[in-house]
Amino acid sequence: MRIYLNHRFVAETKAVVSVFDHGFLYGDGVFETVRAYEGRLFRLDEHLTRLKESARGLNITLPRTLPAWHRLLYQTLAINHLKNALVRITVSRGTGPIGLDPALCRKPTLVIIPRAFNGCPETPHRKGWKVAIASVRRTPSQALNPRIKSMNFLNNILAKIQAKGNHADEGLMLSLDGYLTEGSVSNLFLIKRRRLYTPAAGLGILEGITRQVVIELAKENRIPLHETRLRPSDLYKADECFLTNTSMEIMPVVKADGMKIGDGKPGPITRHLHEAYRAQVRFECGI
Ligand code: PLP
Repeated sequence: MRIYLNHRFVAETKAVVSVFDHGFLYGDGVFETVRAYEGRLFRLDEHLTRLKESARGLNITLPRTLPAWHRLLYQTLAINHLKNALVRITVSRGTGPIGLDPALCRKPTLVIIPRAFNGCPETPHRKGWKVAIASVRRTPSQALNPRIKSMNFLNNILAKIQAKGNHADEGLMLSLDGYLTEGSVSNLFLIKRRRLYTPAAGLGILEGITRQVVIELAKENRIPLHETRLRPSDLYKADECFLTNTSMEIMPVVKADGMKIGDGKPGPITRHLHEAYRAQVRFECGI
């Protein structure tokens, strides 16, 4: 695979950044993951806007204009002969002497890593995932703006480690006051009596691009949607549950903390929304 690193494409073995990069030293930077379907990057503008806002939140000026990013990302796909792919964009503070002061770094480091991706295997979607609520809490928005998709994912990593330790596929994090927020790499939705519920943005979540598509689809499909506060008990008593993110789209959840959700199988509204999601992708990507 050819990796884009600061102005040029290089072989994977040459795609190395300095040990003085502040992304490496302090997790000082932002990232974004975009998915390509049949050569088209889905909701690219939304991803680039989030990247730009994340960078602005850290006082990093994104190099390049949005049209230049479009060209660069499509060039990354073309050079690697990729049609179905995940493209990870990383922008770090850059290289500079040790020290937290951003002024130590003159220009951001930009890395684009593409990889072939034809979607998750069907089995997890058919069987559904297990989730576990982690003891580690979501970083409160007073500590870090949750809209900043930063290179510092430690809470999320700890939640994932705990989930794996509990034989679950994804760890969910609560807010400091005990409300459900999101998964380590995903947003959360519950269904109860044919109504859709998702933790409100104000609770300190990363507002996923996939979450936004699901919200739009719920409206189109006349499924009442509530962005609200949810407790773990709401999860355990839900009829259906699913997680969303760019790579897995909509993942049904069938167990939470060892308890069955609904009848312990992916639910009909989840399946319906996933079909609608895929249709939306085909429509927007001209497939
Ligand atoms: N929440 C967190 C913490 C994430 O890391 C992600 C994606 O990586 C999401 C939610 C889902 O975001 P998106 O739908 O834009 O992929």
